[in-house]
Amino acid sequence: MTPAAGELAAGLELKRVGRGWRGACPVHGGSSFTLNERDGRPVWTCWSGCDRGAILTELRARGLWPSHEETPEQREQRRRAWIEQRRRMEEAELWRRAAVAELEARQQAALEDAEQHGGPARWLKWTDCAAATYSIARLKGDELTRRLDYERQVRPRSTARLLAAGRADQREAEAIARLIVAMIAAEPNTKGRAA
Ligand SMILES: [Zn+2]
Repeated sequence: MTPAAGELAAGLELKRVGRGWRGACPVHGGSSFTLNERDGRPVWTCWSGCDRGAILTELRARGLWPSHEETPEQREQRRRAWIEQRRRMEEAELWRRAAVAELEARQQAALEDAEQHGGPARWLKWTDCAAATYSIARLKGDELTRRLDYERQVRPRSTARLLAAGRADQREAEAIARLIVAMIAAEPNTKGRAA
């Protein structure tokens, strides 16, 4: 059975616009994905031109669209697994950003120390910091979430501290974004006025 358009819209976190919904395309992101209900069935379009088959594959992967081999319970399980996986990815991304910021600061301090005092041991410390920064900055997907799992096991305290720092940074960035939106909304519109 195909899901109701509302159920699909909720699963994709689309926003209600008029009689339909709009938001990020499950395949390419952006904001040009629209969803409507026609004859009781969901009808969607990616206005950036994503392939219908690719969108269906992605909806199935997220447990939002049935496939023939799956029971509704299996689909629900898949949907939960996808949500959990996304939560893990977002958390790992927060951790990565905070870890890279801290390693960059250490790398800078090591560089200044080496430049001032010299000696192979200090320069070696600087290259070690640079290598550690690079190895974390380039992590992607499963590699990144596995690395966070590993860090939690071997360095639970500093990992928790970095995650807290990452969350604080994110809240700050969101607050700034809201402020900018409010400032733009408050700005008097001068367009169309005679000079
Ligand atoms: Zn698309």
